[in-house]
Amino acid sequence: MQKPRIVAGNWKMNLRLQAGIHLADEIVRGNRPEDVQCILAPPFIHLPLIARKLEQHGIGLAAQNCYEYSTGPYTGEISPDMLQSAGVAYVIVGHSERRLHFQESNALLYRKSLAVFEAGLIPIFCCGEPLEVRQQGKEKAFVEQQLEESLFPLSAEYLSQIIIAYEPVWAIGTGHVASPDQAQEMHVFIRDKIRSRIGDASAAVLPILYGGSVKPDNASGLFAMEDINGALVGGASLVAKDFLEIMASFPNS
Ligand code: PEP
Repeated sequence: MQKPRIVAGNWKMNLRLQAGIHLADEIVRGNRPEDVQCILAPPFIHLPLIARKLEQHGIGLAAQNCYEYSTGPYTGEISPDMLQSAGVAYVIVGHSERRLHFQESNALLYRKSLAVFEAGLIPIFCCGEPLEVRQQGKEKAFVEQQLEESLFPLSAEYLSQIIIAYEPVWAIGTGHVASPDQAQEMHVFIRDKIRSRIGDASAAVLPILYGGSVKPDNASGLFAMEDINGALVGGASLVAKDFLEIMASFPNS
């Protein structure tokens, strides 16, 4: 089976509504390789309007977060079921900014991942170690615990449909991209761990994206690695030209 190629843009808390629609328009009109799945993750309020822009263009729409329940008295929260009704297909779960600023725990992220699947959506599950953990050489144990506590309680059927984004915290928004070898080593480790739960065939095609300061000038080095199936892009996804260039950075297949 063909290995997946995915580039997802996490716009974070950026862009007023009209600017978001304009950016989505530029990406819709841009030159996108046919074998690369493009996913946009704008802020919540952009989602329904951008969903309409993306119709019939083969671009996936993601939310950046969701709540763990489908309905109820949770003022200010948005459920996976509501997202599904707005044309969303993916939800970013466990971004390090949510873990840091909103104290999202591995246990909560399991419940959110399950809720996302139950609403018929796909989680883009983020994992990755902070700088001090890497400096102590404990990055694999750290990521393993994130996977064990948030993903291993999921059924093998759900787990084989997930998208994983390895995002070392020290590389996010810092300009310090992981080297292709550093990222590849962790991707192999993650794939091996998941293989034990879903088997060889599904693990071989499980999309594992790298995230952390991916730019047009470093994407091709990362995408040349065997186990890097694409990228979750923050800053560079706000500039259509850069985002499109990253999408065009896979080796010829
Ligand atoms: C991110 O927010 O997921 C991210 C990878 O950000 P940046 O590309 O800006 O480092």
